[in-house]
Amino acid sequence: MTRYVFEPAAVRSLPIIGSDARFPVGRIFCVGRNYHALAIALNSPVDKATMRPFYFIKDASTVVESGATVGYPPGTKDYHYEMELVVAIGGHGFRVEEADAEQLIYGYCAGLDMTRRDLHLIARDSGRPWELGKNFENSAVFAPIVPRGDLGVLKSGAIELQVNGITRQSSRLDKMIWEVPELIADLSRFYHLRPGDLIMTGTPEGIGSLKVGDRITGHIERVGEINLGIGPPE
Ligand code: MN
Repeated sequence: MTRYVFEPAAVRSLPIIGSDARFPVGRIFCVGRNYHALAIALNSPVDKATMRPFYFIKDASTVVESGATVGYPPGTKDYHYEMELVVAIGGHGFRVEEADAEQLIYGYCAGLDMTRRDLHLIARDSGRPWELGKNFENSAVFAPIVPRGDLGVLKSGAIELQVNGITRQSSRLDKMIWEVPELIADLSRFYHLRPGDLIMTGTPEGIGSLKVGDRITGHIERVGEINLGIGPPE
């Protein structure tokens, strides 16, 4: 048995609807732009004919479960929500064809890609890594995972987010620029996908700022609900 000089960090995991077992989280791949309306609003329009998806990664230590209240994060004055469909990977895949991508899908959940927007935009506009804007403690919020089952390859359905009960994001999954099988196939050209990986598939238009005391609620048709409270900073 390996001896460590201190106790290793616990494995982050998510509940699964209809199961006592939990889903251990590996890597969290996030799609940079996947809805035209938001890409245009951020002055980064996407031409699918000539452009490929791009990704950033959040560390598994950023995971928070739906229902939590998190502190307003340090180092930002513009803390944003991004409501997203999340794909949970349940198999191994390398250079996967789109037609075979469904077999890698363990299930789906609602997710929030929490963002320090000021730091994100500084990084983007100066060609620096996005870490400070995207990959920080409590920045990856996930609802319980729904097994793929009859959902198959999810292509349609409403995706919505409210702040304090007021709708801020309201779109449909069929507006994604790259669909779930395309994202899985594309990522598998660069990585050996493995069980535990999560893919945050991008957010629709309507992103915005949060303040202390806000409560976010979100919903994805046939996938589920998510909620998060924003507490005072440390
Ligand atoms: Mn996002």
